[in-house]
Amino acid sequence: MIKQKKQGQLIVISAPSGAGKGTIISKIIENNKNIWVSISATSRKPRKGEIEGVNYYYLEREDFEQKIKDDYFLEYAEYAGNYYGTPKGKIIEKLESGKDVILEIEIQGAKKIKEILPEALFIFIMPPSEKELLYRLKGRQTESTEKILERFNTAYKEINEVSKYNYVVVNDKLEEAVLKVESIIRAEKCRVDRIEEMLVANKEEIIHEFLMEQEFDNKSIKDKLENEQ
Ligand code: 5GP
Repeated sequence: MIKQKKQGQLIVISAPSGAGKGTIISKIIENNKNIWVSISATSRKPRKGEIEGVNYYYLEREDFEQKIKDDYFLEYAEYAGNYYGTPKGKIIEKLESGKDVILEIEIQGAKKIKEILPEALFIFIMPPSEKELLYRLKGRQTESTEKILERFNTAYKEINEVSKYNYVVVNDKLEEAVLKVESIIRAEKCRVDRIEEMLVANKEEIIHEFLMEQEFDNKSIKDKLENEQ
């Protein structure tokens, strides 16, 4: 009766660093083959264990700035002294092929996406508490104390922007947080504004068919009873 839009859903996920967004997203793509995560470009240096083309495309500052001029990004922002940007490239193609696309971006970028694509789904992942966030940042042991505190200050500000998003998920227990984000994505697919067409069948035709069948059934029962006598 209902034909829903084949186009995939654009999903923007933000979180203060240390909230566990990366782990949640990896679990989601493990469980959902129809979701594609966009790989951003950054001018930040790779952290230990990060891989070019998997975590990010690592660019020199000047190259990043050139790409801004070339209109290569759907959005970009400067965060903690580095550039981060979403390449336009495959996003439209993936969405049109029916894949859902996750953008794992910070809040300035999310605001830009809201301006250009307001129908996107905006989810904010929240750490269980500010104190826990600071300890999670420390636990990474990939950055200096100064950098950790800088990220904590930024995170603190970001938490106050949560009302700009459609949903908030507290990452207290990982499995539960993953389930919540997956449920939000599923629920979004059932929104009435994703209906492309209502295929309303002819009511009279259906009733007529039903009555004919009814008559046929009654007749068969009657025949059966008569034969048994
Ligand atoms: P990190 O340095 O910890 O990998 O990322 C720092 C922040 O930049 C995170 O909040 C992350 O979500 C965000 N980020 C990553 N890629 C992009 C992007 O393409 N655009 C924007 N605006 N932010 C991004």
